[in-house]
Amino acid sequence: MSARRIDGKAAAAALRARVAGLAQSFAAATGRPAGLATVLVGEDPASQVYIRSKRAATAEAGMRSDHHPLDAGTSETELLALIERLNADPAVDGILVQLPLPAHMDAARVIATIDPDKDVDGFHVVNAGRLAVGDPAALVPCTPLGCLHLLKAELGDLSGLHAVVIGRSNIVGKPMAMLLLGESCTVTIAHSRTRDLPAICREADILVAAVGRPEMVKADWIKPGATVIDVGINRLPGAEPGKSRLVGDVAFAEAAEVAGAITPVPGGVGPMTIAMLLRNTLVAAHRRAGLPAPE
Ligand code: NDP
Repeated sequence: MSARRIDGKAAAAALRARVAGLAQSFAAATGRPAGLATVLVGEDPASQVYIRSKRAATAEAGMRSDHHPLDAGTSETELLALIERLNADPAVDGILVQLPLPAHMDAARVIATIDPDKDVDGFHVVNAGRLAVGDPAALVPCTPLGCLHLLKAELGDLSGLHAVVIGRSNIVGKPMAMLLLGESCTVTIAHSRTRDLPAICREADILVAAVGRPEMVKADWIKPGATVIDVGINRLPGAEPGKSRLVGDVAFAEAAEVAGAITPVPGGVGPMTIAMLLRNTLVAAHRRAGLPAPE
């Protein structure tokens, strides 16, 4: 392996420690802790795990974590009424509705009901629009924000670099591309209809893979010395029966022979997502309290 391994776990731990310090100052200045409300509809086991770790991280950072578990049979109207209550609750700075929602609910309508200034996932169209026009009031989706943090720590100024983002989802690919454009990169967005993807990837100084296809990006897709950010989380059968292992969208071992720096899976982008959720909650809390928001 010649590439530097980008340690997302260490970067996330540092960020969480910084957020915890700022959360303490926020509570001292306002007389109340910053608060995140989480909502989970149904009992999807993966969603339960995500919510548990988000809540634990929130509490560990010295912020208030209120959880609202709802039955799988809850109606959309009841969920929207809960969101309205949380929008109006002064103790709640951030609202996170865990996705996916049950099939009888319209996720777009649910997200659109969240107050954009409490939308710490950054999925509301108002926040997508703010990001697109470069409005600093945007709350930005946590995963691409985490990727950008790692890239800036690795490379410093990104201006003029060619970034290729594979994936155009509203949660990862599109906001990632917008963030990189905001850093004055030349951005190419690739997707399932892109022609000759390997050739396009080989032009990238920064390659972000957010596809959901195990080890799709091979060594010969990578420009020597490029920085590779692997967002993918794919679960494959493990060596022992009944066990599984996680791999990214990049064939890590071979890619690390060519890249200049690369994130591993696990331990790369994943830990940054929760750290950025805490950061977004703290930023939302500062703005709501009329205090200057931390970086
Ligand atoms: P989506 O399924 O919403 O989007 C995948 C994107 O990849 C689409 O734009 C799709 O193109 C594109 N794509 C699919 N197949 C190909 C292909 N063969 N060649 C080129 N592009 C292709 O996924 P998400 O954006 O939500 O997530 C992407 C990955 O990131 C997943 O593995 C997910 O688990 C992971 N993830 C990780 C997070 C973390 O915290 N680390 C958080 C969120 C996601 P098209 O639009 O044309 O269909």
